[in-house]
Parts: sequence; C-alpha cells; structure tokens
Amino acid sequence: MKSFNSGIIAMTGLLSIGFASQRCAVENKDSNPKMPNFIIIFTDDLGYGDLGVFGHPTIKTPNLDRMAYEGQKWTQFYVGKSVCTPSRAALLTGRLPIRSGMTSDTRRVLFPDSNGGLPPEEITIAAALKTMDYRTAAIGKWHLGHKSPFLPTDHGFDYYYGIPYSNDMDRVAELPGDWITSQIAFAEEEFWEAYNVPLMRNDEIVERPADQRTITKRFTEETVAKIKEYKDEPFFIYLAHSMPHIPLFRSEEFKDASLAGIYGDVIEEIDWSVGRIIETLKEEGLDGNTLVIFTSDNGHWHIFETHGGFGGLLRGAKGGTFEGGMRVPTIFWWPGQIEPGIRMELGTTMDLFPTFCKLADIKLPGDRLYDGYDISPVMFQTGAGQREDVFYYRGTKVFAIRHNSYKAHFLTRDEYGDPTVTTHDPPLLYNLDIDPSEKYNIAGKHPEIIAEIRKVLEDHKSTIIPVENQLEK
Ligand code: MG
Repeated sequence: MKSFNSGIIAMTGLLSIGFASQRCAVENKDSNPKMPNFIIIFTDDLGYGDLGVFGHPTIKTPNLDRMAYEGQKWTQFYVGKSVCTPSRAALLTGRLPIRSGMTSDTRRVLFPDSNGGLPPEEITIAAALKTMDYRTAAIGKWHLGHKSPFLPTDHGFDYYYGIPYSNDMDRVAELPGDWITSQIAFAEEEFWEAYNVPLMRNDEIVERPADQRTITKRFTEETVAKIKEYKDEPFFIYLAHSMPHIPLFRSEEFKDASLAGIYGDVIEEIDWSVGRIIETLKEEGLDGNTLVIFTSDNGHWHIFETHGGFGGLLRGAKGGTFEGGMRVPTIFWWPGQIEPGIRMELGTTMDLFPTFCKLADIKLPGDRLYDGYDISPVMFQTGAGQREDVFYYRGTKVFAIRHNSYKAHFLTRDEYGDPTVTTHDPPLLYNLDIDPSEKYNIAGKHPEIIAEIRKVLEDHKSTIIPVENQLEK
C-alpha cells in the first residue's frame, strides 16, 4: 500500500477513518489482479428530476436507465456545494471547499478575470491515483483555475481537453434583453459565437470560441479514444460535460429530438454519450473492471425556466441549500462487482476520493482532514455507511445540516436575486425520509434533535482552519 506521507493527524472530529488492511484490488475476468478503472461522468446543473430513471416523464434516457438497472441508483447522494467551482473542488479533493479556499461570500465561482484556483498543495483523485501509476485524463469543463498552476495537468491529469470555465462566460455579443432572456435567446438562435470560451488541449488553447454545438459529441469522442488508449493500464477518466449549463447547445442529430424541448435534446445527447462510453467498455472487455459513476455538480438552474431543468420532488435549486440544490441524480455501474439495486444510504461526491483510494490500495494522506468516507461497503453491500451528516454551505457559512434523517436550516436565502439572509431560531427542521420536499417544519416537536444538530455544527466549526480565499484573488 502506498501512502503520501506519515504526517500526524492533528485534528479529530469529522475525519474519515483511516483504511483497514483489507486489500481491495479486484479480480478481472481472467483472474489476474488488476486495479479497477474509474470513470466519473459529471454533468453541469443537471436536476434531480431530469432523467427517466429519476422520474422525468418526457426526457428519454434509455442508456442511463439501463445503467441504473444494471447498477445502482443512489437516491440520497449529495455534492459539496450547490454551484460549479466549489462543487468540483469538493469532488476532486474529497474535502469541503471551505478547507481549500474554494468558496467565497462575494464571488460564487471562478471567472475569466480570476487569478486563483485549486491550490497546488491540494491532492486530487488523479494525483492520488498517479501514485499507483494510473493513466489519468480530464475531459470537459474544469473550472478550478484556468491559469497555471491550477490546470488539470498541474493537478495529476496526464491529459486535458475541454473548456477551463463555464460555457456562459466571456460573452462578447450584445445582449437582447436581460441576463436570463438573452441566454435563452442565444441558445435558441444557436448563437454560440456570443461566448468567446476557449477550448484547450493540455495547457494550450486550440479553438476559440469553442463551438458548443458539437461539444458534448467531441467530449465523448475524446473519452472513447482515451479508454482505448489507456485500456492496458489502470485508468481514471474525469468527464465533466459542460452541458446542460445554459446556454444550451446540442449537435444536429439531437435538434428537436426530444419531447421536452431544447433542454430535453441536450439531456438526450448526454444519454447517447453515456451509451457510447458503456458500449466502448464492453467492446474492449473492460466492463467488469471499470467503475462508472454518473452524477451532477449541483441541481437545476431554475431561474432559466424551461432551459434550466427540473428538480423533481425536491424543493429548491442550484445556488441554494434546500435539497434541489445539492441532492443530485447518481448512478453507479460496475457489472459483476456491485449488486444492482437502489441505494438509499447517504453519499456525497467527496466520498469518491477515499473510496477510489480504498479500491486502488492507496492510503489516504494523513496530513489533512477529509470530508469523505469510503462508501465501498455500501456499494458492495458488505457493511453500513459511515456518513451521518451532510453540510450545506453557502459561501463560507453553514446554512443547513442533515443529520441522519433530519435536516435543520439555520439560515436560508433565495438561490439568486434577493440577497436577504433569514436566520431561523429555532432552525427549520424537516425529516427528509418522510418529507423529502421539505414542506413540513417539525422544529416545535423535536427540540432534542435540534440540540443534537447544534452540537454537530459546533464540532464541525472547530475543524475549520482559515485558508487563503482563491475565488477572491
Ligand atoms: Mg454547475
């Protein structure tokens, strides 16, 4: 087992438990021990209710539906933050963005004029897997810093192909109407040149503006090519689609293909992409040794109306701390290794770092706090999940905490628009198992649970060490 260092863990609290001695390299089809491959397919702003398998009535997602049928549908899976940059930092580092300086009260994400990024001392999943000689590629939207030393190739990825920040940035055209109506109009007119977003290969710009009409297709082709190139060695591919973040674009074959309009077209192209990747793994004989995880960086962006997706039965949306902002549609697929079914245990994107480390026989770095847990026992159904808490940050503040079935909102604020922060004392309290839509405040009935969650909050705060803010640089 390789480890990063033998640093002493100075703090307790929410620290993930160090790995036991169990060896987790899996057996491949010819019984030779081989490290598993990992593919994360990370969509941008996909809502909890946007897939057929998660209940959408008119968006066709046969490949994702099949992936869930053959794998596991996780119904209580969360992100580290309800907007792009901090959510991605959480996923790749296994740590809440407050620990890496990747969250701010004044700038919610990185912008083209930002000078910060994911600090070099942060360890990404890719960098961890490199210690076991994995081949690593990041394809798609990065949004963790577009300048060196913050690029994917600075953070453990052998290869990068994609756009370095959001697809609605670098606007260069006049806007017909306000922010919302103009983004919708540009998409409907296919005016992709309105956004001078660069497309990069490694650290070079290869196209500008990126032609977003074919971007989902091209990210898919790059992923298929990398699977074929890396197939003889263990690999990790992080495919972060820039869709369905507005403005929406899709390739010719998917135009007007969906009953659900342009948003449906975009999701159906992503579904096609998933099908191509699964098909490639099967063709190459890699399906039994590759864990594929499909999820989203945050909930739907409801202010864009029919261009912004659907949160299903969940309250709230992207940018906020109700469930619709942070609970995301998630599917795990690993034929022959995980029992198909529905997993209702709590999980988060931050759990993938320690889980992959466990599966790749890597010891977690001992010099920092992790907010993720190894969820392989849940995945393999060999044990219970360790996670009891989910923290819902807005900027640098904890707005809400889920503790087992219960969620307390200490602060609330509209996702976008009205900046008023409302303090709740006692906090709003919901039982999410019984009331997933957060409709019925039961604070008056359960002061003892509120007291327990207040203790969780205090314990959590004691683990936060101030660091330089990267989004304000
Ligand atoms: Mg997003």
